[in-house]
Amino acid sequence: MTIEQSKSQEALQPTSINHHTRGILQFNGQHFRALIEHGNDVILLSDQNGNYSYASPSIQRVLGYSPEEFIQLNGFTLIHPDDIPSLAEAFQQLVATPGLSETQQFRILHKNGSWRWVESTSTNLLQEPEIQAIVTNFHDITDRKQIEERQHLLSQISDLYISSLDHQITLQEVADLIVPDLADYCRIVLIDAEHQIKAIVASHIDPQKITLVKDLYEQYQGRISATHGVQTLLETGQPELISVITEETLTPLGQENPAALPIIHTLGLQSYMGAPLIVRGRTMGAITFSSVQPHRHYTQDDLDFATEIARRLALVLDNARLYQEAQEELAERKETEELLKRREEEHYRLAAIVESSNDAIVGKTLEGIITSWNHAAEQLFGYSAEEAIGQPIIMIIPPELRSEEDTIIRNLRQGIRIQHFETVRVRKNGTRVNVSLSISPVKDAEGHIIGAAKIARDISRQKEIEQRKDDFISMASHELKTPVTSIKGFTQLLVRRFQRLGDEESLRFLARMDTQLNKLTKLISDLLDLSKIQAGRLEYREEPFELDELVEEIIENVQGTTSTHALILDVSTREQHVRILGDRDRIGQVFINLLTNAIKYSPKANKVLIQVTKEGNSAVIRVQDFGIGIAADYQEQIFERFYQINEPDLKTYPGLGIGLHISKEIVERHHGRIRVSSQKGMGTTFSVLLPLLHEEE
Ligand code: ADP
Repeated sequence: MTIEQSKSQEALQPTSINHHTRGILQFNGQHFRALIEHGNDVILLSDQNGNYSYASPSIQRVLGYSPEEFIQLNGFTLIHPDDIPSLAEAFQQLVATPGLSETQQFRILHKNGSWRWVESTSTNLLQEPEIQAIVTNFHDITDRKQIEERQHLLSQISDLYISSLDHQITLQEVADLIVPDLADYCRIVLIDAEHQIKAIVASHIDPQKITLVKDLYEQYQGRISATHGVQTLLETGQPELISVITEETLTPLGQENPAALPIIHTLGLQSYMGAPLIVRGRTMGAITFSSVQPHRHYTQDDLDFATEIARRLALVLDNARLYQEAQEELAERKETEELLKRREEEHYRLAAIVESSNDAIVGKTLEGIITSWNHAAEQLFGYSAEEAIGQPIIMIIPPELRSEEDTIIRNLRQGIRIQHFETVRVRKNGTRVNVSLSISPVKDAEGHIIGAAKIARDISRQKEIEQRKDDFISMASHELKTPVTSIKGFTQLLVRRFQRLGDEESLRFLARMDTQLNKLTKLISDLLDLSKIQAGRLEYREEPFELDELVEEIIENVQGTTSTHALILDVSTREQHVRILGDRDRIGQVFINLLTNAIKYSPKANKVLIQVTKEGNSAVIRVQDFGIGIAADYQEQIFERFYQINEPDLKTYPGLGIGLHISKEIVERHHGRIRVSSQKGMGTTFSVLLPLLHEEE
C-alpha cells in the first residue's frame, strides 16, 4: 500500500462504533425488513469514518462473512489495494456533501480469499435525523466484470492481429496479456514443421518464479509422451483441463517425471488448463494457463474461453509468421536484385575492357563454336563479330595445325590453362599470322567448364625481328668462322717454324694465342649450332656408343684446361658399358658444357664430382659443383636462349647464355632430360638422363 493510501485509511479509522443507529431499523416494519434480508443487494450502514453499524444478512451470500463478522471490520481493509485511492477520494467527497449519492465499482475480498467485483451505491444521509448514516447498497458484478474483461482480452488479441500486419509480434507480448487476468502463470510454445519446439515463453505474476518454470520446462523437453501438459496438447490437438490439482492428479506425472513434482509444489499450482494453437488444421503450438490462487479453479467455461483465445492467438501468430516470411522474402529478393545489378555492372565493365583490348579476345564453347569476338579480333583476323560468332573456331586454324585444337580442348576439359603458346593462324584473306595464345577455361556458376576464353596476340613483328636477329647471328658466325679457321692454320704454321728455330719465347706467346683462338672457335661453333637449332637444321648422327667411356674422355680433356679444379669421377657408383644410341660428339658437347660451367661458377672450390650410373631404363650422368648455386626462381629460365642470371651480387662471368640451351636441345633430341638441383650459395648438380640402348636393339 502506498503512503497516500495508508494515510487515507488512517483518516477513516473508527473512533467509536455508533450502536445507536441500529435503532433506525425498528421503523422499517416487517415488510421492508424481509425485502432487505432476502434481497440480492447487500445493505450497509456506516458512519463518516467508514465504520459499519449494520450489514444485511445477504452479505453472507455475497462475501461469505456473517453480518456480525463484517461490521467488526473497517470497510477499507477489504478493498483491493488498487481500488482504494479512488474509493477514498469518493468517500471523502460523499462525507462532505450531505444528500450526495455515488456509485462505484471495485474489488472486495471474499472470505474465501478471492476478489469479488461489486457495484456499490452510497448515499450521505448523515444529516437525516432519523437515519444519520451513510447508506450503502451493493451487489456482486463479478460475472459481468469477467465477461467484460474477457471481451477486453479478446479485443486486445484482435488488436495484436492488426498490429501483426506491420510488426513482429512477440510471444512475450501475448503471454503478458494473459497474466494475471486469466492466469498466474502462462506458457506459450511454438513448434516448427518438424515438430520441434522452436520458441517458448512464460509469464508469471511473480517474475522470480520464471526461473523455476524454466526448470520445469527443461524436465519436459525432449519427452515423447506425457499424460498432461504441452506435449499432450501438441500430440492430441485437444484442450485439457485439470480443475483442481491434487496429489492424485499429479501421480501419473510423478511417475513419468519425478523431478517435476517438487517444482509444481513450489509453484503451488492449483488449477491448470491448456489449449493447442491450431491454424488451418495444423498444430503450431500450445498455450497453458495455471492458477496458483487457492480459490481460482478453472471450469469448462474457462476452458472454452481459453480455447477461443488459443484460436485467435493461432491466427495472430500465423499471421506474424507470414509477415516475417514475407519480410524475409522481400529482403532476399532485394539482395538477389542487388547481386544481379552488381553482376550486370561487372559484366559491362568487363565487356568494355574486352572490347578496348589491343589483344584479340575470343570466346568459344567446348565444341569449338565461337561465342564472342572483340574489336581486336576483327582487326587481327579480318572477320567481323557477326561473321565469326556461331562459326567453328577451326576457320582460323591452318589445316596442318588442326590437331592443335584437339589438344587445346583436351587441356581445357581438364581445367588446364595454356599460356603463351606460339602458333600460326589464318586470316579471312588467307594470309598467315604468328600469334601467341593464352587460353583459359570458362566456368559456369557451379564450376563446370563450359568453354574457353582465348587471347591471341599478334607476334608477327616480334617474330620478324627475331628472325632478323637469328639471320644476323647465323651470318656473323659464318663470316667469323672462315677468318678464325685461317688464323688458326697460320698459328700452326708459326708453331712449327719457331720450333725449328728453337724460339721458346715466341712459342709461349703462340700457345696463349692458340688458347684464345680455341675459345673463339668454341663461341663461333656454339653460335652456329644455335642458328641451326633455330632453323631446325641441327643434324645428328645415330650410332651406339659407350657413354661411360665418352664421359671419361671428356673429363680428361677438360681436366687438361684447368689447374684449379680436380674433376673426380665417382668410382664407387661408376657403371660400365653404359650404351646409348645417338650422336657421340653432340653428347660430348653437353658434358664439356656442364663441366666448364661447373668450373666457371665455382671459383672458390677445387673440385667437381661426376657420377655415371644406370637408373631403370636410363643412363644418368651427374655433374656436381660446390660453387655459387642457382636460386630456385631461375632454375627453369637458365635453359632459355641467351639467358644469364643477372643479379647485382653476382660478379659477371663471361659467356653468351647459350650453352645450356644447346645442351637441352641436344639431350631432348636424344629423348632424354636435363635437370638441375641447386641452392643459392650451396653448389649445383646437373643431371642428364638418356635412354639406355637395349641389347636386342
Ligand atoms: P653461360 O655462357 O652464361 O654460362 P649457360 O647457358 O651455360 O650460359 O648458362 C646459363 C646461366 O646459368 C649462366 O649464365 C649462369 O648464370 C647459370 N649457370 C649455369 N651453370 C651453372 C653452375 N654450375 N652454377 C651456377 N650457375 C650456373
